[in-house]
Amino acid sequence: MTEITPPAPDGHRALKSPAISFEFFPPKTEEMERSLWETIKRLAPLSPSFVSVTYGAGGSTRERTHSTITRILAETDLLPAAHLTCVGAARGEIDEIVGRYHEAGVRHIVALRGDPPGGIGTAYATHPDGYQTSTDLVAGIRKQHGDIEISVSAYPEKHPESRDFDADLDVLEAKVDAGATRAITQVFFDNDLYFRYLDRVRARGIGIPIVPGIMPMHNFKQARNFVTRAGTSVPDWLAEKFEGLDDDAETRKLVAATVAAGQVQKLAKHGVDTFHFYTMNRADLVFAICHLLGIRPQGAQKAA
Ligand code: FAD
Repeated sequence: MTEITPPAPDGHRALKSPAISFEFFPPKTEEMERSLWETIKRLAPLSPSFVSVTYGAGGSTRERTHSTITRILAETDLLPAAHLTCVGAARGEIDEIVGRYHEAGVRHIVALRGDPPGGIGTAYATHPDGYQTSTDLVAGIRKQHGDIEISVSAYPEKHPESRDFDADLDVLEAKVDAGATRAITQVFFDNDLYFRYLDRVRARGIGIPIVPGIMPMHNFKQARNFVTRAGTSVPDWLAEKFEGLDDDAETRKLVAATVAAGQVQKLAKHGVDTFHFYTMNRADLVFAICHLLGIRPQGAQKAA
């Protein structure tokens, strides 16, 4: 539950700064690597609870995810969480990856089924000797290591492959029963969808934190394409805010920051105290949004 500090002078209840986490993807080139590290250096002083690094579709970034995670461990005080999927690998290989992470000191895995190797929308095929579902993967990790934190996905609009919300929640419940301790949501833009989903989750008796995943839309057109394929709806009011800005990156950035800041501030006002940011390896918008949430770099002075 949110910890409440004494009432603020304006009569509003004053909330403690929310907890935050950041998601990065492993860089493909040296230039992208430099840019990621500038981002990490800018965001690290905001003291995130953890930072996660994604695992490319089909397991394509296995080594790059690993080297990004180990560099974070070696060069920062941040707690890294490694994403891992069931796709394209036998159980033994996955267990070995988890073992390598554990040996390196990683104590947090984001365990996922993964998208179909043929891309979103194609039929999902499991590796014949692999973990068959995310639930199996969670159980496999838990069996190997009792001291690893396991986060999983959650879908406020249900996963596109799920028959209905009940089937979707069955999967979430199974993942929790197998050992998951936190869920991070797919990106959403309509807060009501999150709150309705949270009601459903709690009505099921699922008690783990359901951390909202927030994505500032640096490039609206590209992002819309990507999130829509993953099952996230983009409301008309949001599209209207970016209308006419295709060739105006500067204004788009300001609009994107305003929209995402509005979303998190409304969530915070309704008691949400933990946020996961899909950073797209960029610091500027996320830094500004965290500032608006009252989060200051460690060592910086707060305004009186
Ligand atoms: P799950 O929650 O396991 O399930 C998806 C659907 O599959 C279910 O709703 C159901 O229809 C079916 N299903 C699964 N298990 C069962 C079961 N036991 N019984 C019956 N039906 C079942 N993808 C990547 O490739 N790399 C990443 O790093 C990555 N990170 C992500 C991080 C977050 C926070 C989120 C929300 C998603 C991420 N994804 C990532 C995308 C994810 O891999 C896809 O959405 C994928 O299609 C589903 O994987 P999942 O673990 O979310 O699915």
